[in-house]
Amino acid sequence: MASRPQSCGKILVQLVRCYSSKGGKHYNVVIAGGGTGGCSVGARSCRTFGPGNVAIIEPAKHHYYQPMWTLVGAGIKKIDNSQRLMKEVLPQGCDHYVQRLQEIDPEKNTVILDNGEKLTYDYLVIGLGIQINLNKVEGLIEALKVDPNVCTNYVSDYVVKTYPAIQNFKGGNAIFTFPNTPIKCAGAPQKIMYLAEEYWAKHGVRDKTKVMYNSALGVIFGVKKYAERLLTVVERKNINLNLRESLTSVDPLKKTATFDLLDNKNGEKKTYTYDFLHVSPPMSAPDVLKNSTVPIVDASGFLDVNKYTCQHVKFPNIFGIGDCTNIPTSKTAAAVATQNKIVHRSMTEVMAGKAPTGGYEGYTSCPLITGYHSCILAEFGFDGVVLETFPIDQGKERRTMFHMKKDVMPQIYWQMLLKGYWGGPQPYRKIMHLGFV
Ligand SMILES: Cc1cc2nc3c(=O)[nH]c(=O)nc-3n(C[C@H](O)[C@H](O)[C@H](O)COP(=O)(O)OP(=O)(O)OC[C@H]3O[C@@H](n4cnc5c(N)ncnc54)[C@H](O)[C@@H]3O)c2cc1C
Repeated sequence: MASRPQSCGKILVQLVRCYSSKGGKHYNVVIAGGGTGGCSVGARSCRTFGPGNVAIIEPAKHHYYQPMWTLVGAGIKKIDNSQRLMKEVLPQGCDHYVQRLQEIDPEKNTVILDNGEKLTYDYLVIGLGIQINLNKVEGLIEALKVDPNVCTNYVSDYVVKTYPAIQNFKGGNAIFTFPNTPIKCAGAPQKIMYLAEEYWAKHGVRDKTKVMYNSALGVIFGVKKYAERLLTVVERKNINLNLRESLTSVDPLKKTATFDLLDNKNGEKKTYTYDFLHVSPPMSAPDVLKNSTVPIVDASGFLDVNKYTCQHVKFPNIFGIGDCTNIPTSKTAAAVATQNKIVHRSMTEVMAGKAPTGGYEGYTSCPLITGYHSCILAEFGFDGVVLETFPIDQGKERRTMFHMKKDVMPQIYWQMLLKGYWGGPQPYRKIMHLGFV
């Protein structure tokens, strides 16, 4: 009996706090997006701040381990292996709003959801990913729907088309594209090409095939060490490298793909016929970031955060994670792994009235699969500085790294990263390079 008034008091305080005068429910931490970043930082926040104090806004029914989609496209894994119900991966104890974030008011610490509901926060973490813009290539949506030879590993609905398209290919022009925008996993557009090329070589159609990599970039990969190794793979596999070409339209009836020649001053275009077309579509910052009462993005539209601390440059109680931020590093789940640790640390430091320590080096990683049993494990940070974990030459194609990608990384993702227990390999890198392993 003695404890009853105390519990009632606690409940009252909680109620007053939850339903603030602004009319919405109040949380210590609100997280926008339940993808790789939202889940991992959400799990850490729930452990630190306790049940009921953290909300995650995420409309999707499923969570996908997107790095597996390269393997799904090559027939090595099934789409189901990459998919979990969202409610199963979101941290227990957080409140889940199955809604889209509609608007952010950073001056009133308020977010508005699709159904009009308002939530207020002390701290906001934004992890909304990158937006795929299929509509920016004329005819692409139609081609993906009607042409079995047009596919993309970048969209859950279409990644399942890739392997049948590879299997049914009987020779001709096989084109793989890279768009003229920032994208997630900048290695993915070429990984599927190496896998497809090996499949066709094994199945007797390679001699009848011209494989083309048409990329808007001026180089095959942004980090010199790995770019040099990849060029030897391209040469060995006799792939036609067409740099500074950006896909603008697809005509599934004529089976043609048209590209802007980016270095041509007269705005010339080039049209190829295709028999197989894998498209990496244009991408951008999520449109919803523009729906802020005051700007929170930079000129490119991505969330404007400090690259060392992940803290917003103007609003100290807002943090950004992953693909939606303007952190100048390659957009990958590997980058999110280190960032979720940094975001959590920065946020708790700010809560304690301290300046965030920071220390993010831009760590990111791209397992550059070059065949059904080989992979170059690229690891690097800001300005392309190589940050390899293992004390071996990771620029070499290796079977061990292929198994790391196929068998080990999915376990780290589901069992550790999403549960907020993986902050990237940096601590291991130091030990490995001491020569103990
Ligand atoms: C084909 C492919 C291959 C890849 N390969 C690799 C690889 O080998 N290694 C690697 O490390 N990474 C790889 N990646 C990249 C990696 O998957 C992403 O970089 C990572 O998932 C980014 O995490 P995120 O949290 O920023 O975004 P996401 O995980 O995409 O999550 C964003 C979330 O925000 C939600 N959302 C969007 N809009 C709203 C809204 N308005 N309101 C609320 N929620 C919203 C979405 O539903 C989604 O759940 C690959 C990706 C693809 C597609």
